[in-house]
Amino acid sequence: MRIRCISKFSPRRPVHRCPPVESANGVDARRHVMTAASVYLHVPFCRQRCSYCDFFRVTDAEGTHPLAARWFDLLWQELLLWRAEGAVSPETPLRTIYMGGGTPSLTTPRVIGDFLNRVRGEFAVASDCEITLEMQPGTTTRAGVEELAAAGINRFSVGAQTFSQRWLDLSGRRHSADDTRTTITAVREVAGDTALSVDLIAAWPGQDLTALRGDVEEALSFGPAHLSVYELTFKDGTELARAEGAGEVVALSEDDRAEMFIEVACLAAAAGLAQYEVSNFARPGSESRHNTAYWTLDDCVGLGAGAHSLVWPHRYSNPHDLGGYAASVEQGRLFRVVNDAADPEIFAAENLFMALRLLRGVDLDWFAGRVGSDVRQTHAIALARLQEAGLVELNDSLLRLTSEGLLRADGIAALFV
Ligand code: SF4
Repeated sequence: MRIRCISKFSPRRPVHRCPPVESANGVDARRHVMTAASVYLHVPFCRQRCSYCDFFRVTDAEGTHPLAARWFDLLWQELLLWRAEGAVSPETPLRTIYMGGGTPSLTTPRVIGDFLNRVRGEFAVASDCEITLEMQPGTTTRAGVEELAAAGINRFSVGAQTFSQRWLDLSGRRHSADDTRTTITAVREVAGDTALSVDLIAAWPGQDLTALRGDVEEALSFGPAHLSVYELTFKDGTELARAEGAGEVVALSEDDRAEMFIEVACLAAAAGLAQYEVSNFARPGSESRHNTAYWTLDDCVGLGAGAHSLVWPHRYSNPHDLGGYAASVEQGRLFRVVNDAADPEIFAAENLFMALRLLRGVDLDWFAGRVGSDVRQTHAIALARLQEAGLVELNDSLLRLTSEGLLRADGIAALFV
């Protein structure tokens, strides 16, 4: 349950700027003929700096950042640049569009609606395209939710994080628990519970099982079709890490966190939401299609400074530089850099553990075809070690995390390489 929005997947390694035709990771890019059916929009402006956040964002407390007003125009221009090089095709129907951040719900419904109309005008959009907006409580009124739904948003991911004022204060967020209740209620009433996803954070300093249950049960009481519960982490450079270093807050023990992880899964299951990924729970059919595309290694084009893309077999990222991004896109150049693992074995391991986050597991025959090498041969010793440790199980060609492996999902990749 580590906090890690997969749409912000960020391999930490040096980057280089020239996309190779044949990848250093050993996969022949010319064999790849698909185009992306998923688009991620990164909207990096936030009203506050949350104490735990290490995402790329800029604090724009008054909403006056000069680029905020024309951000969606820049995203549109970038999308056209990806189209010009064939990574997004006007013919391949888009299946998911995801607006994340940052705080994309600070954008007006009119701007979001105009962007979606442009997309519909120039691209094929599947009739059941999943269009998600991350919503921070208190940033949108009920009328705003109505306008957003009318514009085509059909999935609202509400960042509740907690209903406890104690931890809202620690988080540095500007909304109250009542703001969260109001926003969730508006989404439910306007768009229905199938359009509602709620995000929570577990393992706050001082949180016990009773308090965790309170948060999860309140979130579930609204009947969301989807729930995400991430474990609080203390990332370098965050206010929370500083506070922990200064002894002002104490992280929960591994045992306590594991107990919480199991409790969340039980509560979600009792409400009819099955765990389908390490941190995600859904009613059957309401799994996030966008995030599932990441875990199944489908192509996704990420727009905006700080966004990441997968155009198989290459991973790209847009540097964390708003001005540089705007200038580049306006001059007709993509701002991306290549993030490929130079070592084919690391490339295979990273992609395998991305895919393994899904509880259904990974078919290693399929995976071998995807990455061009078979981990049963290239990583035989590491795989055997993980099996002996009871962290993964291999049945025929299906590799899955065990219940113990799920508790340690974020650490397993490091054991594999
Ligand atoms: S609103 Fe989200 S992106 Fe912005 S600072 Fe808070 S956690 Fe980070």
